[in-house]
Amino acid sequence: MSKGLLIVFTGNGKGKTTAALGMAVRAAGHSMRTLILQFIKGAWNYGELEALKRFGEIEIRPLGTGFTWKKENLDEDRRLAGVGWKLAAEVIERGDYDIVVLDELNLVLAYGLLPVAEVLDTLGRRSQSLHVVITGRSAPEELLAAADLVTEMREVKHPYREQSIRAQKGIEF
Ligand code: ATP
Ligand code: MG
Repeated sequence: MSKGLLIVFTGNGKGKTTAALGMAVRAAGHSMRTLILQFIKGAWNYGELEALKRFGEIEIRPLGTGFTWKKENLDEDRRLAGVGWKLAAEVIERGDYDIVVLDELNLVLAYGLLPVAEVLDTLGRRSQSLHVVITGRSAPEELLAAADLVTEMREVKHPYREQSIRAQKGIEF
């Protein structure tokens, strides 16, 4: 039996986005149509963008490079979240993909930039074979309740905390 799963990677430990990327690679190996939408993109030059471009089997689209997380810009952040979600909802409803990754959507929801109920409603109406993977810290309880698979990454040690080692290429970006 195959059933599209709602999968959530959350928690404060490292590995949420990389777990989702790994799952996307695994799915692409079975010729599954795979899309990654990145809701919040930092200023770094993420290696996965170039790697997936070269690989050519997984579509990856960075959204919302303009997020500021500043109080005075909340309206603009909310607008960007809305534009990103509209695209995600269209893709989910059209059913063009077998697996869709919504990277960092949890943070967008946790900051109240999108209504959780609207997201859950769209997810609930998706094709029954579509897998959706959502990553990010602070996943809302309603999403955890609706999910089929939840993994919480827990920080045990982090090189920044223990040794003040900053983000390194290939590891963080
Ligand atoms: P990754 O993209 O490496 O899989 P992630 O998706 O689980 O990580 P995010 O919540 O998206 O992590 O955070 C982005 C970055 O913050 C990660 O690259 C991670 O290494 C870094 N990070 C996590 N914990 C700490 C910490 N305690 N101090 C500094 N940086 C941290
Ligand atoms: Mg991440």
